[in-house]
Amino acid sequence: MFKRKKGLFSILLLAFMAVFMLAACGDKDKTTGGKDKDVLQTIKDNDKIVFGVKNDSNLFGLKNPSTGDIEGFDIDIAKEIAKSILGDASKVEFKEVTSKTRIPMLQNGDIDAIIATMTISVERKKEVDFSDVYFQAGQSLLVKKGSKIKSIDDIDNSTKVIAVKGSTSAQNIREKAPKAQVLEFENYAEAFTALKAGKGDTLTTDDAILYGMADQDNNYELVGGQFTDEPYGIAAKKGNTKLVEAINKALTEMKDSGRYDEIHKKWIKKD
Ligand code: GLU
Repeated sequence: MFKRKKGLFSILLLAFMAVFMLAACGDKDKTTGGKDKDVLQTIKDNDKIVFGVKNDSNLFGLKNPSTGDIEGFDIDIAKEIAKSILGDASKVEFKEVTSKTRIPMLQNGDIDAIIATMTISVERKKEVDFSDVYFQAGQSLLVKKGSKIKSIDDIDNSTKVIAVKGSTSAQNIREKAPKAQVLEFENYAEAFTALKAGKGDTLTTDDAILYGMADQDNNYELVGGQFTDEPYGIAAKKGNTKLVEAINKALTEMKDSGRYDEIHKKWIKKD
């Protein structure tokens, strides 16, 4: 009798745990726009958009150590999108992504959209949906002033090129300068630190990001001009047409009202 009771108790405990786990999963769906739910509807239900943004890219998404706020072009555009969709620019939450983590975090439902210096590419379009282009960059090189590297043609098999994992830049440089020794880092803070420590001869990524680095340390400069096209888009989980439409509408409104130009002028000094 006592044994049977114990068995029954175990079954009840297992059933309780199963219900609890299911409820926890359901909750994840509610807060993050999980699998089959329309993400735009989730954003409206939660009255908040969760954007994946860079925290280490000066001018685009950079954490201000004194305030803890993340600041930059991408951040201001994200706030305008929140204003257009939810009527209030402060209804946003920012989660840090790197070039490598941004698509997995979107697929997991950790974030609703990515606005993080992300190039629209054919390859990425297989995994995510993109908004219209909201910024046009191009890949370039950052070197210490006085470097013998003046353009991509100066890269040979003795050149160590620093790049970031998961970026188009890491891929492109292998195609455009196949002899280069490419060293990949987790994020742009680590990459720039490595360049400054002399671990590589040049750092390659979008000129827009490199200008942000040169701005932080004027011993460094851009060389060689743009050697790729990097049109930035805002990414949403595949199939979320309504969210992409709402983002595109926000971008059009921003451009029509002059707000886009204001934000551009605030952060991007060079044309
Ligand atoms: N725009 C390029 C990319 O999407 C480089 C910048 C970045 O790593 O975010 O990969």
